[in-house]
Amino acid sequence: MSKYLSRRFDDMRAYTPGEQPQDRSYIKLNTNESPFPPAPGVLDALSRDEAGRLNLYPDPDTRVASAALAASFGLTPERMILGNGSDEILAFCFLAFCDPETPAVFADITYGFYEVFARVFCVPSRVVPLDDQLRIDPKRFCPAGGTLFLANPNAPTGQALELGAIEDILRENPRHVVVIDEAYAAFGAQSVIPLIARYENLVVVQTMSKSRNLAGARIGYAVGNPALISDLNQMKFSFNPYNVNRLSLLAAAAAVRDTGYYETCVGAIKATRAATAGELARRGFTVLPSAANFLFARPNFMGGEAYYLALKERGVLVRHFRRARIDAYVRITIGTEDQMRALLIATDAIMRESA
Ligand code: PMP
Repeated sequence: MSKYLSRRFDDMRAYTPGEQPQDRSYIKLNTNESPFPPAPGVLDALSRDEAGRLNLYPDPDTRVASAALAASFGLTPERMILGNGSDEILAFCFLAFCDPETPAVFADITYGFYEVFARVFCVPSRVVPLDDQLRIDPKRFCPAGGTLFLANPNAPTGQALELGAIEDILRENPRHVVVIDEAYAAFGAQSVIPLIARYENLVVVQTMSKSRNLAGARIGYAVGNPALISDLNQMKFSFNPYNVNRLSLLAAAAAVRDTGYYETCVGAIKATRAATAGELARRGFTVLPSAANFLFARPNFMGGEAYYLALKERGVLVRHFRRARIDAYVRITIGTEDQMRALLIATDAIMRESA
């Protein structure tokens, strides 16, 4: 780091995104993208004419896209804010709802960005361990004693909490904001969006990166009661009022209309997930039950990092986390059937060689 970097960041560690090789020679199962293209309606919306209007700023109030999204949930737009990916929305939540007296509270094994945001925004954090089966124990968050960030399903484990368990947490934390990060909920968890009318402390964060096949467009959003959304807008307008670009706003509005297409894609991913989990279990892997578009699996024939490296050598990229409690595991994004077949063929070769 340079001698000029603020001392505030002395102990900061930036988030490390999954590898994004540009040569496209890998089977990429490492960043939980969808293997399928965006819906046809999205491609139609991104016309040459629209690109020709990129000399103009986008609507800072994101009105058309927000109205379309809000209507899809039966909500009014003042309960909704859009962000440049849900990472940005989560950043606004850390800025708005945490301070020296209000720590960020999150699980020891969860989305790595929570820890990074806590540090970069200089707010204290309280880390709550998962149970010995790597599940969130709701009782450990009742009360949480700060602003709670819960990924449901959790990442990178893929395990989900029931709606009732989250409702208990909401009820037990009336004086604190509870942020439920539903990045992967469309693949098998129950969304708590229906609870926002009843719990004024609830913020639900979702993304179009996974189940809407739009990771490259960077579209995330939060829903919650209008006062909390107004707080988040204060952050947005103090940071980057034009946070969602013109083309992404068009993509977002179009993606909302094409629900049938996405249901088909999500259905395919769930079916492939079940088949892959079975194949890995048959090969002796421990596979955690997944409600997400990835599997968290532990080979029994070598360590997690060695397996990740051996797969990479064979052109298959998965994600390994060098972290206590989970370093024997890898996270495998569910791709197409062909991609998963390639993963299994590579795995069989690795198993033969290591036998
Ligand atoms: N939450 C979780 C749990 C995630 O895994 C991710 C993806 N890395 C995000 C949020 C952020 O996704 P995006 O910024 O693409 O919306």
